[in-house]
Amino acid sequence: MAVADCIFCRIVAGEIPATRLFEDDHVLAFADIHPSAPVHFLVIPKQHIPTLDDVTEAHEPVLGHMLRVASALAKEQGIGDTGYRQVINCREQAGQVVFHLHLHVIGGREMGKMG
Ligand code: 5GP
Ligand code: ZN
Repeated sequence: MAVADCIFCRIVAGEIPATRLFEDDHVLAFADIHPSAPVHFLVIPKQHIPTLDDVTEAHEPVLGHMLRVASALAKEQGIGDTGYRQVINCREQAGQVVFHLHLHVIGGREMGKMG
């Protein structure tokens, strides 16, 4: 169910504009508003799931689908061969600021080791 004050639920509903890259019944992909690399987009479940810790067994199919959609779009965006990162931040210390689960897909530049 959509959460009224959730920015990403509002993007799903079309109430806030976004550069939409892909959409089906379960997921939406759109360009990140503050890209941290030449290619930076987000893949989200349409259903409101606040964090990775709220994922249940019932969500496993949509999470797998998100990974596959992300890879297909990465190829489409021209970073399939050079490589890219898929990142999900969980809670404050990891840098999560939007509490609607989202997968970052980042590429198009050299990236250092994580940590
Ligand atoms: P987090 O830090 O929670 O993992 O990532 C949230 C991401 O959402 C950030 O990279 C931020 O730039 C992006 N973001 C926040 N608000 C909006 C918005 O209204 N539109 C779009 N397209 N991206 C947003
Ligand atoms: Zn939401």
